[in-house]
Amino acid sequence: MSQPDDLFKKVTAHAKEYGFVFQSSEIYDGLGAVYDYGQNGVEMKNNIKEYWWKSMVQMNENIVGIDSAIFMHPKVWKASGHVDGFSDPMIDNKDSKKRYRADQLLEDQIDKYTKKGKTDKATELETAMNEALTDNNLDAMRDLIIAHEIACPISGTRNWTDVRQFNLMFSTQMGSVAEDSDAVYLRPETAQGIFVNFLNVQKSGRMKIPFGIAQIGKAFRNEIIARQFIMRMREFEQMEMQFFVRPGTEMEWFSQWKESRLKWHLALGTSPAKYRFHDHLKLAHYANAATDIEFEFPFGFKEVEGIHSRTDFDLKQHQEFSGKKMQYFDPEINQNYIPYVIETSIGLDRMFLLTLINAYREEEVGEGEKKEIRTVLALPPQLAPIKVAILPLMKKDGLPEKAREIMDRLKVSYRCHYEEKDTIGKRYRRHDAIGTPFCVTVDHESLENDTVTIRHRDSMQQERVAISALSGILEAHVSMASLLS
Ligand code: ATP
Repeated sequence: MSQPDDLFKKVTAHAKEYGFVFQSSEIYDGLGAVYDYGQNGVEMKNNIKEYWWKSMVQMNENIVGIDSAIFMHPKVWKASGHVDGFSDPMIDNKDSKKRYRADQLLEDQIDKYTKKGKTDKATELETAMNEALTDNNLDAMRDLIIAHEIACPISGTRNWTDVRQFNLMFSTQMGSVAEDSDAVYLRPETAQGIFVNFLNVQKSGRMKIPFGIAQIGKAFRNEIIARQFIMRMREFEQMEMQFFVRPGTEMEWFSQWKESRLKWHLALGTSPAKYRFHDHLKLAHYANAATDIEFEFPFGFKEVEGIHSRTDFDLKQHQEFSGKKMQYFDPEINQNYIPYVIETSIGLDRMFLLTLINAYREEEVGEGEKKEIRTVLALPPQLAPIKVAILPLMKKDGLPEKAREIMDRLKVSYRCHYEEKDTIGKRYRRHDAIGTPFCVTVDHESLENDTVTIRHRDSMQQERVAISALSGILEAHVSMASLLS
């Protein structure tokens, strides 16, 4: 199999070639860190969303979903701390005019020291960087960049500006007059839409604590450096769930959600060795516990999902800034309180990337002269963009008509694809490359006895089955129910 860097490049190229992900506005040379999902990408993305949504909202009687607006009252972001605190330290190189995250330049330097075996230097720099970050000491960060002779990768010079804080929120104007008071933000997370609707949902849904509110939606962050394809985007999607609990019980729920979220990932058949928890030692001011679920990407273990015990911070802040009570009356203990919150927050695009990377295989198949490399996406069948390809062996003798009949029956429940061009072998390969779990071939025998061959993507085994058995096979292997039960 490929080297890690190679694998990542191959997956990125494959995603474009087979209609999964395109660069946004590509004909204009693209827009930095913004991507579009193609015809196969959108299907797979929708399947991931459906898996998450049903796992949360359908399988848990005490979780409901909402869909809040991207625009919110500007005070929301003051209350949440994003206006004052949602920023990264940045530095510009005066020669290349390129902007970098100061902490990332230092981290790259630490990596370089480690790779060269200079562990003392690496530790020394890491300690100094953490101190500067904790103290929010921007001058100290610049001094470290100078002292460690870090040069701009583009210009090669060390002609740096000061380090400044750069807020990651995008803002725009609402209404016709561009005045300050009209400034609104594109939400940097979906969670706040849940917090401000906490009482609306609790009252209208007569929800009793503990209960959760789930949401899938777009979020926007003006990331200073956006790299690694859809890993770090400026417009992305989050799947977040806020679980409201009685104060004092949050640690139990935190552990429970940690376990249950990892199970969700592993149910897709991914090797447990590819996942790990990264518990935070240094906690954000509003959290009393936090962990990341990390996946081993070709460029190392990286966060896919965050699970945070956020105390009553957000609801309390909104109570203070809005002047509206955010309390819940708990009939079991006859008390009013502001609930504590456990948050699970997963990036849909990162989950998409993980799924592609984990599925990509290049295999040697065939013997002698027929030896070839087959590229296959061994996707979890429930997430595959197309569930079954219906292929008449030839374009004559009534085979296309028979194939269409099968297609019409199955397409009501599953995304199917009808294809009659090219040899059957080529058609199989195309479907291997987009991860279609089953190919159904209609031949002359099908006309005689209502049977077809069904080919399994991973084993390439073929078996003869009755047409009437196809729905049952699909239900057992590709339906969302088969993943949830
Ligand atoms: P990171 O440290 O990687 O910037 P974060 O800790 O800021 O991530 P959260 O604010 O906890 O991320 O957001 C929850 C999830 O949203 C992350 O686990 C990640 O999967 C996803 N996410 C965050 N920022 C981006 C982005 N710029 N592009 C794509 N997904 C993102």
